[in-house]
Amino acid sequence: MRLHPGPLVVASHNAGKVAEISDLLSPYGFDVRAAADIGLIEPEETGETFAENAVLKARAAAAASGLPALADDSGLAVEALDGAPGIYSARWAGDGRDFAQAMRNIEEKLAGLGADSPQKRRAAFVCVLALAMPEGAVETFEGRVEGTLVWPPRGDRGFGYDPMFLPEGHSRTFGEMSAEEKHGWRPGEEEALSHRARAFKAFAASCLPAASAVAG
Ligand code: IMP
Repeated sequence: MRLHPGPLVVASHNAGKVAEISDLLSPYGFDVRAAADIGLIEPEETGETFAENAVLKARAAAAASGLPALADDSGLAVEALDGAPGIYSARWAGDGRDFAQAMRNIEEKLAGLGADSPQKRRAAFVCVLALAMPEGAVETFEGRVEGTLVWPPRGDRGFGYDPMFLPEGHSRTFGEMSAEEKHGWRPGEEEALSHRARAFKAFAASCLPAASAVAG
């Protein structure tokens, strides 16, 4: 599916995600509208995979707005916890969205398992982006970044579990990186760092104008 610059709904009520996706979209000239700003309600996430939940959110937003909609479902998969919290990453922070508590919760479980070396503290961030058109067509794009979990958390940038996540090959956590560093990608570049930027790069290759046609 090819998208042409015009209105595009970012189908998320998570301010951190909306900021990152808007940032990644900024060179392409879309009129980006966040779901909450145009009064869309958040559908219940009843899917069993990141892709199912991303599609459900994108479809609901495209149907309600009559506009193309891009949704993100993402989370942290901790190897020693059999992939938890995974699709439940937001829910582990409770209704108050308390990620300091959610990170402590993960740390307690890892400590209980004696996970005291980076090898035993492996985790990945996963992101699936879904693009849905009001007519019903939908496509998904996945990105993943491997790393380890540090304790105590480091940095106050980013959102969610960022301060605990040290991407492989880096010495700073996502919580210590600027948005640009965390994305690690601009249109036309080969490499991307974060799970969201990696999914976005695949989305851009398939749906957005070529990098050579994009300013900046
Ligand atoms: P959901 O996709 O709306 O169910 O929420 C995903 C949750 O995963 C977010 O609320 C964050 O807790 C976590 N998450 C996803 N992506 C990131 C990220 O880039 N940094 C930190 N936490 C993230």
